[in-house]
Amino acid sequence: EQRVVIVGAGLAGAGTAARLREQGFDGKIALVGAEPHRPYDRPPLSKDLLLGKAESADLDFDFAALGVDLLLGRAATGVLTGERVLNTDAGPLPYDHLVLATGAEPVTLPGTGALPGVHVLRTLADARRLKPVLDARGSVVAVGAGWIGAEVATAARLAGCRVTVVEAAHQPLAGVLPAEVGAPMRRWYADAGAELRTGHPVTAVRDGEVELADGTVLGADAVLVGIGSRPATGWLRDSGIPLEPDGSVRADAGLRTGVPGVYAVGDCASFPSARYGRRLLVHHWDNALTGPSTVAAGILGGTAAHDPVPYFWSEQFGRYVQYAGYHEPADALVRRGDPAGGDAAWSVCWLREGVLRALLTVDRPRDLAQGRRLIERATPLDPERVADPSVPLKAA
Ligand code: FAD
Repeated sequence: EQRVVIVGAGLAGAGTAARLREQGFDGKIALVGAEPHRPYDRPPLSKDLLLGKAESADLDFDFAALGVDLLLGRAATGVLTGERVLNTDAGPLPYDHLVLATGAEPVTLPGTGALPGVHVLRTLADARRLKPVLDARGSVVAVGAGWIGAEVATAARLAGCRVTVVEAAHQPLAGVLPAEVGAPMRRWYADAGAELRTGHPVTAVRDGEVELADGTVLGADAVLVGIGSRPATGWLRDSGIPLEPDGSVRADAGLRTGVPGVYAVGDCASFPSARYGRRLLVHHWDNALTGPSTVAAGILGGTAAHDPVPYFWSEQFGRYVQYAGYHEPADALVRRGDPAGGDAAWSVCWLREGVLRALLTVDRPRDLAQGRRLIERATPLDPERVADPSVPLKAA
């Protein structure tokens, strides 16, 4: 009987188990997870869960019915690829097929890991540690005006906390969006009553305290560090499984690692995108949702390829922000709607040679849905019509 061992009991890991059964795999499946909790979903951690609108966010899988052995509270420590054995802190597990789905972990600031007043937000435990600060209407300083910083600032303001967000760059989301796209988002912070301090590199984070380059010291009941995430692959260092410089497991289009029997999926894996002509490392929910069917097909001897149009959403300051595709600085930026002129809903499209490559939408979900299909089909568009927000994108 064939044995699949899946490491990482998040969306990608749990989804792989489910897709395997759907596609007819009838061997053994073990799902190994370092956290003690049953597999849960992460997006609610910075949204409903933090606000007390939800207690938990369990993923909707019936593992007993799927015949999946859940091995929780058990961390993988290494792989012996020659012997096909996964080592864990509770003993070795032999496999025929191994699926790496260990996700990502937050980038932290050195020396802050054990400080009670310093937080990150990746796990249910992190959310449960941060929530009491919001419940008590404590003060929050977020380091980093990225997706997590913005969502935590949103929740903290809704809870009635005093909120300051400090950002080294000059506008929110500087790591992922050009300045002219991120700049109008400054107002969202102000309108929500959150103070946004941009252009201020943080020089030190101490317990409940952030020091900025200009010498300012901001005290808070909780300092949230939201400066990005990286693949949780440190445990693979000596395994011989190829990793990229960004820490991701190097997978091919079929999400195979090149090591016999070993696959990688979700936040921990990068893959070559034929669509975008480059390797992508995607830290978004949709990628962890869709990757597993490719892995399952591969294990069952098929040849599926994972080349999605990356998709992401964020709920911040009462707005629904969505992004699809992948853009590069050379792509032509076309605005639909003018946030500076007072439009509350707007989109930005990136085109290359008249073909849509990516788009960001703010409260324009129809643009997103249509744009995503246009990207998939590489349909040529008229940039002048794209720039007219009254023309549906699909008619541009
Ligand atoms: P994970 O969900 O990280 O699961 C990996 C699991 O592996 C973890 O449970 C981890 O404990 C476990 N693990 C790690 N190392 C080991 C080991 N050595 N042994 C055993 N187990 C191990 N995306 C969106 O598109 N929209 C959103 O609004 C959004 N909101 C988010 C909010 C928050 C607070 C966070 C943290 C993420 C959010 N994301 C969002 C991103 C999305 O949640 C991730 O892309 C998705 O969870 C990736 O799934 P995964 O299964 O690859 O990894």
